Formats: sequence, C-alpha cells, structure tokens
Amino acid sequence: MGEHEAADRAIRKPGAASAAGAASAAGAAGAAVGAGAAGDEPDEQFEVPERGSAEELLDAGAHSELDAMRHSAAHVMAEAVLDLFPGAKLGIGPAISDGFYYDFELPRPLTPEDLEAIEERMRLSIAADHPFIRRELPAEEARAFFAAHGQPFKVEIIDDLAAAAKAARRPLPPISIYEHGSFVDLCKGPHVASTGRIGPFRLLAVAGAYWRGDEKRPMLQRIYGTVWPTREELDLYLWRRAEARKRDHRRLGVQLDLFSFHDVSPGAAFWHPKGQRIWRILEAAMRELQERRGYQEISTPQLVHRKLWQQSGHWDLYAESMFRLEIEGQEYSLKPMNCPESTIIYRSRLRSYRDLPLRLAEYGRLHRNERSGTLSGLTRVRHFVQDDSHIYVRPDQLRDEIEALLGEIREVYGWFGLEPRFAFATKPDKALGDPALWEKAEGYIREAFERAGIGYTLKPKDGTFYAPKIDIQVEDALGRSWQTATLQIDLVMLPERFDLEYIDEHGQPQRPIAIHRAVYGSLERFIGILVEHFGGAFPLWLAPVQAVIVPIADRHLPAARDLEAVLRSRGLRVEVDDSDNRMQNKIRLAQEQKVPYMLVLGDREVEARTAAPRTRAGEQQPAEAWAALADRLAAEARERRL
Ligand SMILES: [Zn+2]
Ligand SMILES: [Zn+2]
Repeated sequence: MGEHEAADRAIRKPGAASAAGAASAAGAAGAAVGAGAAGDEPDEQFEVPERGSAEELLDAGAHSELDAMRHSAAHVMAEAVLDLFPGAKLGIGPAISDGFYYDFELPRPLTPEDLEAIEERMRLSIAADHPFIRRELPAEEARAFFAAHGQPFKVEIIDDLAAAAKAARRPLPPISIYEHGSFVDLCKGPHVASTGRIGPFRLLAVAGAYWRGDEKRPMLQRIYGTVWPTREELDLYLWRRAEARKRDHRRLGVQLDLFSFHDVSPGAAFWHPKGQRIWRILEAAMRELQERRGYQEISTPQLVHRKLWQQSGHWDLYAESMFRLEIEGQEYSLKPMNCPESTIIYRSRLRSYRDLPLRLAEYGRLHRNERSGTLSGLTRVRHFVQDDSHIYVRPDQLRDEIEALLGEIREVYGWFGLEPRFAFATKPDKALGDPALWEKAEGYIREAFERAGIGYTLKPKDGTFYAPKIDIQVEDALGRSWQTATLQIDLVMLPERFDLEYIDEHGQPQRPIAIHRAVYGSLERFIGILVEHFGGAFPLWLAPVQAVIVPIADRHLPAARDLEAVLRSRGLRVEVDDSDNRMQNKIRLAQEQKVPYMLVLGDREVEARTAAPRTRAGEQQPAEAWAALADRLAAEARERRL
C-alpha cells in the first residue's frame, strides 16, 4: 500500500502563488475556490461551520488583516453593483485566496464594460473613505430590514439561522450588520476601519454560480476581484495570472501539437509525435543516469490477480482507486502501482548479501480511478507512467544509497534549471515495525543530508506508517511549487508483507530494506510542469524540433535537404519548411512553435554552404559553415545546456 501516492496526487501551489495556480488549473480567476471557502486554512480560533449552512454563508473568510481588506472590497463592490443595478439581489461576498467575490442576481448578463463601470463606482466609495460600522439588530428587525429592501437571499440566511437556533433549543442572538456609506450588509465581519484602507484592486471575471451551490436554485453572477496592499503586489499578481494562463499546459499542448485529451478515454493523454518525442528524451536521459548508477530495468504486467493486491493490502485499503475486472470468474485489477510486482522479481531467486543493493527500475503504466470531475489536463489523470524504482539494500548500505539518491535528484532537476527542495517526514505515532530500525533509518537519512550538504525541512511524524520519507518539491519559473517525487525508506511494507530475504555472510536469512524511488514522478505530470515552467520554449536538448530550415525560394530546397542531412547526422531533430508560405510566414510559424533555431537559406548561404541561425527570441547569430554549425548545436544539446 502507499508509496508514491502523495507524489501522484495533489500539486501543491501554496501561499502567494495559489491564485496563479488556480487560474492555470481552472481557467477562471479563483474558480477553484468553492462558495464560502476562504481559500486558506481557517485559523484555529474560527470554528469551521457545517457545509452549506447559513453559518458557512456568513463566514466572510476574513481571518487575517489582508483578508479583511479583501472582504471589505467585496462590500464596496456590492455597493457599486446596487448603485448601478437598483433591484440587484445580493448573495454572499467572501474573501478568497488572492482576492474576493460577490454573487448577484441581476436582470441581464454582465459585460466587460459593466466591470469597468463597477470599478469606477468602487473608486468613488474608496475615495470617500466611509467608515465600516458594525451594528447588531434583533433578528426580527434585521429580517424586516432586508425583506423591505428586496433581499430574499439575506432573508433566507436569517431564517436559516433562526431555524437552526430553534432546532438547537437556544435563543437566536442578535444579527450583526456592517454599514459603510449608504450600504448595509448582513455580515459577521471583520472589516478594515474604512473604505479608504482598501488597496489597489482589479475586477477580473464573471462566472455563473448557483445560490448555495445547488443547481435547483437560481444561477447568480459571481464577480471575482483581486486587491493588494500595494500597486507592486497587484501588478505582480496580474502578471503572474496572465503568464500562468499563457503557459497553461493544456493550451500549449494543443498549440505545440504535443498531446490531446478525448472523451473516449477520460484522464488519459493521447501523445502526438512531438509530445512523445519529449517523453522519449526524458526517458533516455533517465535511462542514461540509471545505467551509470547500476539500475536494472524490468517490466511487469498490467493486469494482476487480486491475490497479489490482497497480500500487499491494496485490495482492502485502496480498492476504490483500482480498476477491477472479472476474467473467467477471477478478479483482476489494472495495477495502480508497481511495488508488489517488483518483489516477485526480487524473490525469483535466492538473494545473497553480495547482490545488494539491487536497483530494479520500471517505467510502469499505472491506472488509478480518479473521479471524472477531478481530472485535469496532465496534472490529474487516470493513466500515467512513473519512472519508478525499487531499491533493495542491506541496512548497512542505507546511508550511502540515500546520499546517492539525493545526488540523483539534484542532478536530474538541474537538467531543467529546477532547484529541488527536500522535506523529511519522520515516524508517525502509529507505525509498524521495529522502533530501533526506525530510529536507525531516520538517523541515516539525517546523516545522508548532512554529508551531501543538503538542507531540508522537517515534517515531524508525517511519514507513512511503514516508512520515513523524503518529499521533493520544485518551484517553477512563476514561483509556483509542485510536489514531484518521493523517496520512501520502506522498512515494513514490501520487506515483511512479501517476506523478502537475503542470505548474509554467515549464511543467515536477513530482511532487506526497500526504497521506493521516482525522480520525475508521473511522466505525464512532469511534462505538464515542464511545459508551464518553460512556457513551451524548451531548451535545445529537450525541444521536440530543434531547428527549422527555411528555404527562401523553391530553388533553395535541394540545399535545405542537404543541410537537413548534415544536422540529422549529428543526431539533431530538424525539419525543413517546404511549404508555399512566404519566408516571413515561415519564420512566424517556427516562432509560434517555439523552435529554438531557424536557419534561413537564400542564394548567398546556398552558394557558401553556410547558415546564419536565428534564435526563437529573434537574435541573429553569425553565419557558420554547415558542419561547424551541426557540431556546435549537437554539443549544446548533449550538454543539456539551458
Ligand atoms: Zn462583511
Ligand atoms: Zn513503490
């Protein structure tokens, strides 16, 4: 059970970067945040209200000073909307991560011009610096007030509060309202002192949202906005949001012809030739490293009888995530992980202490049954491949192996200009296995970090119940964090459940330790991350097409074919644009495809057998003889220069 699971599931995009992440994942600003959710974890002193309750609707998400400002901006937006659309009915307007929203029932759909007008009106209110005033009213009075002002949703919330109080046989406390200027809202607060304290803001988008998330209730219009303490922070946020959209791997995947998704196989990518090329390049780079490090590659079946999953514990604990099939009256499953099958190969012969470390690598195709509603691009899929390995070591080899693995991870991430960050998760309170062995293993992990000179954060008691683990996170070019890989030092699960042994130097059977290791993690997700990290402009070594040759006229085509052959002979991936397009169009197309080099051939170049590379950034490099150019580009690719 377990192992690389965490690595395959959530992509964590914490802190300031979360909205850019949400925008990239969901397409619309903050759309990933549900109604009434504050985005961030609620502070401890705030009780989490029941889902869908009136209490939850009243939670303004204003648990910090910044959130209070964001929620205050929502009030000011509601004031503006009421002013511009008298008769608008107000839903709720909480702070969310990086901003706020408010839901409205309006007579017609909002347009971008409406958002501008609302912003304009909001600026007036902010300039007027109205104080936010809290008042408490008896529930009946508050209800009458909102009913008289034509606000049925507010009335409904008060009625729900009254019903809940009645059911709990307690009196309904007074209802708090907040006023600023002439605007009054049903609200628990808190707010900033006055509208003048609201920082630079921008309204971002409108989306439909059912009242109380219930598709049987009215569809309201939700206006999203963002607000920051300073202009610089607002500008940075807007830049990051726009950039994240431009880099969205689902969009670039189509533009660059890398992969596509189809409803005939939800959650599984169709890899087009260029995407498959990137895949093969990543695999080849990893295989080269694995050869150097003494891994041996294996391949194990997809369809596995349930008795193996019963032995591993998956059948009991993980069945919901497994695709199960019945064949000739027997139950099978598509494998959700490779671990148990690797033990079959381990046990295929008697292992001696001399055989260890035994490093078994597998590019295993895995299937996990994620709910269809949670599937998203390459980052949340049902079918994926891991660059998986199971390394079987003697306890005395553990420290060196971990140190080597940390080095592997740093090397691999270095190929992409990514700096891995390590978190060390230690023994949880409920753990299987010998406590002395746990202590020893954790000591070795600490020592390995120290000897490698690598810093890490500690996650006390956050290991799995059978293994201390090391989580690896990277930060991409937009400052977003992604969890990619995990090392688990498995003391119990594979070794004991599968009764693994080796014969020590005294002829006695001993238990090995198993290390679960994936460096890319899921290839699908890793490619998704790389597409966004590079914005599709892959470095030469990773680019599916490294150079496009552009003959200016038809008479230059034979020479273009000759140059193509020279470059291909050095292992470079090259295309000739032999279309009827004009030269400028050919260059523009190659730029849109983010091809690293364009080589334009005209009379002069053909005559001299030279080419002057032009980079995708538009830099014109000096002309070089074909063979010299081919050697230079091949060296750049070989060295994986960024
Ligand atoms: Zn409020
Ligand atoms: Zn594993």
